[in-house]
Amino acid sequence: MSKLKVAELFYSVQGEGRYMGVPSVFLRVFGCNFKCAGFGMPRGELSNEAELIDPTNYADYKSLPLVSTGCDSYASWDPRFRHLSPLLSTDAIADGIMDMLPYEEWKDEHLVITGGEPLLGWQRAYPDLLDHPKMAGLKEITFETNGTQRITDEFKTYLYNWKKASPDREITFSVSAKLPCSGEKWEEAILPQTVCEYEWFGSTYLKFVIATEQDFADAECAIAAYRKAGFTGHVYLMPVGGVESVYALNNRNVALLAMKHGLRYSDRLQVPLFKNQWGT
Ligand code: SF4
Repeated sequence: MSKLKVAELFYSVQGEGRYMGVPSVFLRVFGCNFKCAGFGMPRGELSNEAELIDPTNYADYKSLPLVSTGCDSYASWDPRFRHLSPLLSTDAIADGIMDMLPYEEWKDEHLVITGGEPLLGWQRAYPDLLDHPKMAGLKEITFETNGTQRITDEFKTYLYNWKKASPDREITFSVSAKLPCSGEKWEEAILPQTVCEYEWFGSTYLKFVIATEQDFADAECAIAAYRKAGFTGHVYLMPVGGVESVYALNNRNVALLAMKHGLRYSDRLQVPLFKNQWGT
């Protein structure tokens, strides 16, 4: 039986992208290839807000502080917080999911596999989880990825067969590609060929976090690169803001920008609804 290092497992409303408003189980796995310390910072500067948090003061995710700069899910990849993410068997995860579903079985809920970066090495463990008898009623899965990880041949085959087994099954890749405002390097973050491959296995869309006009200019360059490589999916603009004060400053502007350019707007419903607390 496979095991996954689980940062969080919770039930909430999907706040972003295509499934906004859909009741969803979130499986947040540990580990990421990025740090995204540039979010919310003046261009070229990196946040050390999370670095100032002493992990020894916290026994669980719920009590961790929120940050207004850098990655808002820092504890799901920062090795200093790894003790908060237990290694769980797929049995334990499936049981945990049943406990949180309103009717203890899958109905209209969808599964979000997020991170961190969920397409790192954990690809090898997902088949065990998805084949678990308690997961048989699941119809829709979203992988929330930064779009930098190739899907392994084994997992490609698995996804193809999982979808083929039932006509009402759907796989979505929600690709939050990281623009320079994240602090990550363009050549490492914008990988059009990788994202185009996701389209072979599931409905795939791009989601860009926007704070300024410069971010939008960067997004336009990135969109052109993805289109040139053959990407056909939708594009969403989403406001920056892991805390309400930052989110409220630019959500309307980003919605207007999306409308002006004929792109989709994604809210971050978890911020106004639940203050983006851990576990929401
Ligand atoms: S890719 Fe996502 S999880 Fe990883 S550091 Fe960036 S924002 Fe955080």
